[in-house]
Amino acid sequence: MPELPDVVGFQRYLGSTSLHQKIVRTKVSDRRILDGISAQQLSRHLAGRAFDETARHGKYLFARAGDEGWLVLHFGMTGSLGYYARGRRAPEYARVTLDFANGNHLAYVNKRMLGRVGFVLDLVAYVEAQGLGVDALSRRLSGRMFARLMAGRTGPVKARLMDQSLVAGVGNIYSDEILFQARLHPATDASVLNYGDIKRLYRVMRRVLRVAADKGGDIDKFPRGYFLPRREKGAPCPGCGGQVERIVVVGRSGYFCPQCQKRKQ
Ligand SMILES: [Zn+2]
Repeated sequence: MPELPDVVGFQRYLGSTSLHQKIVRTKVSDRRILDGISAQQLSRHLAGRAFDETARHGKYLFARAGDEGWLVLHFGMTGSLGYYARGRRAPEYARVTLDFANGNHLAYVNKRMLGRVGFVLDLVAYVEAQGLGVDALSRRLSGRMFARLMAGRTGPVKARLMDQSLVAGVGNIYSDEILFQARLHPATDASVLNYGDIKRLYRVMRRVLRVAADKGGDIDKFPRGYFLPRREKGAPCPGCGGQVERIVVVGRSGYFCPQCQKRKQ
């Protein structure tokens, strides 16, 4: 389930494999994945051009095709990228494939079809139109700004952390890690958090996302004591050894340690 750290990994991957290579053909094998654009239009935007830059906002990845505009990639629940050499078979569930002049290919892979592929001229306007808040790792997002964004919010803190219109990038999985490290129960109402809680939540969120992004979202490489490798009902908590529990918050399954994360009333 790609969240900010995974998308940082995809950004690095696209940057290291696919920049400055002329695109000769775009194949769309399932047009349901396209967002606001036809296969012909997408193909026309990309033909003869090369990506010269990548960008990311929250869980969205962008690749700029010169002055033409930006390819938009959202990975949904199961999306990823696959770059493969001439003569190799496309990965399973490749929905959009770009053929480069050097004979290699870049595939946007998505099993469950919940992601999106689009093309936009203006990145900033697109991010705004999607209603996305500030990126969770943006330099602009200070502790003070985070506190302002959280002020007056109600509902489970886990839901607020996952609310892409407040801060973009954190999803169901990383919110569990962040709340564990901030020692906050996922169902604690955001309105009962004090300034100290919110500052701690901000610091932990930034640290967790930076560390995870640095590892490209690879949980096996996380430092000791991280929660995600134990994110399973009944697993031993990395903090106290107690049992991890499952909880449903706004329709999503979350995990937490009832010992380490006491509910604030
Ligand atoms: Zn614990």
